[in-house]
Amino acid sequence: MADCIFCKIAGGAIPAVKIYEDELVFAFLDIGPINPGHVLVIPREHHESASTIPETTAGRMFRVGARIGIALKRLDAYDAYNLHLADGTAAGQVVMHAHLHVIPRGVNDQFHWNWRQIAYADDAAKTAMAEEIQKHLHLD
Ligand code: AMP
Ligand code: ZN
Repeated sequence: MADCIFCKIAGGAIPAVKIYEDELVFAFLDIGPINPGHVLVIPREHHESASTIPETTAGRMFRVGARIGIALKRLDAYDAYNLHLADGTAAGQVVMHAHLHVIPRGVNDQFHWNWRQIAYADDAAKTAMAEEIQKHLHLD
């Protein structure tokens, strides 16, 4: 897509620090890392949402992301990694070309997700929610 910064990075028109590339995906250093070594894995093909990425490419993104995570764990500074993908503005997606974050983590890295845990009113509310999701789930 002509105006997409990540399409330009994958095509070499805008510089980035490459970590890995193949015919389906491109991985490079995030310009504003949560921790040094924070990597983004993108499909070469432009997709705004992860949901439209062909299964082979999506699978490659996940595998490459996880293997980069393992490489990061081998560095002295890190013990673990997070995979993160924001799909949609309300979820925090800023660049509208789907991308998988690989975020290296250390036990003392002082970074905390703003995670919360709310409760369902009761079991019926849980079941109703599950049915609602299933009603809208289309895998073809
Ligand atoms: P998200 O909020 O999931 O859309 O994340 C977008 C990410 O892209 C942010 O972490 C940015 O730091 C990163 N980013 C934006 N522009 C560039 C760029 N030119 N090169 C590398 N990373 C970028
Ligand atoms: Zn794009």
